[in-house]
Amino acid sequence: MPSGVEGDGEDSNHAIFLEGISREEFTHFVAWVYHVGSAAQHHTIPSLTAILKISRMWMIENSIEWAISNLEKLDLSPAHKLELTRRYSIPEWIPHATQALVISPLAVISKDDVSWLGLRVYSIIAKAWEMIECEQKTIAAVPPGLSLEPDPNCPASQHQLCREAWIRFWWHKVARQLLHPTRPLPLDAVIDYIASQPHPDGLRVACRERYVGEIIEGGGLHVVDAIVDGATGAIQHYLASL
Ligand SMILES: [Zn+2]
Repeated sequence: MPSGVEGDGEDSNHAIFLEGISREEFTHFVAWVYHVGSAAQHHTIPSLTAILKISRMWMIENSIEWAISNLEKLDLSPAHKLELTRRYSIPEWIPHATQALVISPLAVISKDDVSWLGLRVYSIIAKAWEMIECEQKTIAAVPPGLSLEPDPNCPASQHQLCREAWIRFWWHKVARQLLHPTRPLPLDAVIDYIASQPHPDGLRVACRERYVGEIIEGGGLHVVDAIVDGATGAIQHYLASL
């Protein structure tokens, strides 16, 4: 591997110099090259990242894929995955890692995670997290469908009871779950949650279906997907600009 430095590689006093690769990284790479296919070889995060880094530098495509697929088998945190993505370009990891970070409480992001993410990516995640929290509160705040016409078989005198039963159910059950301080009900679980609850007294089944239909048609339950997509796109754009 000629480096252009006079006399390098001639003897142990003139080691070959490989720019951008540490002795430790190269040792991992060489150990791997000489033991490819050996079942006994144990791979760690440092050894796999060294193999990935050197394979990227020298554009050894099948080694890149091998290192990434083996890193996937290790239990890396989403923040660590984004750090490796930033350094060694693994764009296929960005959507899932972003989603995992955005839908978890910010409190579970450790100091190490923050240093891996960097300020820019952390702020994208924090903003997305806040947007989701705001959507939860917005949907919880108003029982959906109150302006709907009653089912044709529900007379106006009865439907007032439907409305009152729905408002009570929403506040005492659904909104309370959506606003839970530590384990808020995810928006995409609202319909299943309603289905799991006893039918509210005084609410006609047909009118209940109308209310539930209004929640689905409102599209608000999928807003989290849109926020995650937005955060993913922002992180992709930022990492591509580095
Ligand atoms: Zn009704």
